[in-house]
Amino acid sequence: MQGLMMNYPLTITSILDHGYRVFPKKEVISILPDKSRHVYTYTDLYKRSKKLMYALQLKFNVQPGDMIGTFAWNHFQHLELYYGIPGAGAVCHTINIRLSASQTEFIVNNAEDRIIFIDATLVPFFEKIAALLPTVEAFILLNAPKGFVTSLPNTIDYEDFIADAPDNNDWVKVDENDACAMCYTSGTTGLPKGVLYSHRSTWLHAVVLCLPNYACLTSQDRILVGVPQFHVMAWGVPFGAVLSGAVLILPSSHLQPEPFIKMIIEERANKANGVPTIWQGIYAALKKMGPIDSFPLKTFLVGGATAGPTMIENFQRDFGIEAIHAWGMTETSPVGTLSRLQPEHDSLSDAEKIKIRALQGQEVPCVEIRIIKEDGTIAERDGKTVGEIEIKGAWVINSYYKTISHENFSEDGWFKTGDVGIINKDGYMQITDRTKDLIKSGGEWISSVALEVAIMAHPKVKEASVIAIPDEVWTERPLAVIVLKDENEKLSMEELNSFLLPTFAKYQLPEKLSFIQEIPKTSVGKFDKKEMRKLYAEGKL
Ligand code: ADP
Repeated sequence: MQGLMMNYPLTITSILDHGYRVFPKKEVISILPDKSRHVYTYTDLYKRSKKLMYALQLKFNVQPGDMIGTFAWNHFQHLELYYGIPGAGAVCHTINIRLSASQTEFIVNNAEDRIIFIDATLVPFFEKIAALLPTVEAFILLNAPKGFVTSLPNTIDYEDFIADAPDNNDWVKVDENDACAMCYTSGTTGLPKGVLYSHRSTWLHAVVLCLPNYACLTSQDRILVGVPQFHVMAWGVPFGAVLSGAVLILPSSHLQPEPFIKMIIEERANKANGVPTIWQGIYAALKKMGPIDSFPLKTFLVGGATAGPTMIENFQRDFGIEAIHAWGMTETSPVGTLSRLQPEHDSLSDAEKIKIRALQGQEVPCVEIRIIKEDGTIAERDGKTVGEIEIKGAWVINSYYKTISHENFSEDGWFKTGDVGIINKDGYMQITDRTKDLIKSGGEWISSVALEVAIMAHPKVKEASVIAIPDEVWTERPLAVIVLKDENEKLSMEELNSFLLPTFAKYQLPEKLSFIQEIPKTSVGKFDKKEMRKLYAEGKL
């Protein structure tokens, strides 16, 4: 028997409708790329998102399911794109600005983006590849100064684009399971894969984010979004904030410690999110500044890479700021687990409490995790049996966009994360390793396999392997272990990197080179990365 309740579709626009009806005067504050401050209300966000929807329909005949790209920093226009594009039934495809030209070209062509909304400061990057993007009909410029000149074809200024559009048309009706947004994730083979979010998955993720046990977003909060909007929808905070009526503070590109701290103080941000690299920098800068009277930031979400116990303890001890450690992936929208203490931990020592908070944490509602041992069976939650973490849930991918990849899913439909870890009896997960051949540097991926293939194409190189080495600032950096064809030859870092640059983004280039006679191999002849990591730790590489 079916329940007798209304079918109220969980759509992105219903989030904005709610924000507009209940919190019409709540503010969205943007510090724009030119450092100027822009403030408006949820009412403005609502009306301008409607104008954007209408302009997309009228000027480009945008239809449900069309892909619309964004290549932009965190600011109010990008927020309007988050709402106005799905409002037209189309898909808001946020393109990562940190990838190489060839990766970006692949992504735009694979997505078949029809229009790209682009920040003026990012235009030079796209000018180089624009001719290679046959599906793109126009580029709409964000934050372009008067008289801005570009070689991009068919450009329109964003403000001109939406200027004449009415702000009261109805949103396009969609099914809650329709797609609303897309992000690409790096693959070990170098070809990124699209993750297509639905209205429903985004909505549910946003609601759970707001719950007190998780990110605890409320109408009392002022949230500084330190995760780029091109990175897994800024972890869903732009949706959760509008649902809960929080003030949003959007920093554009100003994520360096000094401007970030200035924004926290001047905009009175009490909450924020960001990857460990950002928080490392902020901690060091705060230490240098000495005590600050009534520093507004009380708590922040940190994830995307391990936030070690030292970082969590440092913030707590020195500034009374609570770092909340979360784990997730682009494929999981992203939040999968989060670590908070429970009442039964009250009697533990401070050091023991920090240890628990540094774990990746417990499943959030609507998500389940399990550990699969090497023999394919499910591990006990005993805090010691190691295996690959698998996940299922309401905002977990069931297939990549246009890509069949059975290897990423178990037979019973769970998603294989490529992360390795343990779960303890209280359900706290800890990541201990990774099966995927990737390096995570400052929250961004580097494919070690793609680097190896490219390095081995250098005429002086016989064999090369790339491993992640720990780095205080970036969490991990790539080390290239190289066997030269001729031992008497020399290969400098500059020579190798200029060879790699056309294919890789700067941050993806090797940090260090190590030359050896032979690369350690496993019994089946694969590069033995475990052994190489061990050699590096022993100072032998
Ligand atoms: P994100 O935006 O969360 O970084 P990605 O899909 O780029 O999403 O990366 C997901 C991967 O990052 C995870 O599979 C894991 O390897 C790593 N990761 C994310 N969060 C954590 C964390 N808290 N601790 C350790 N590794 C993490």
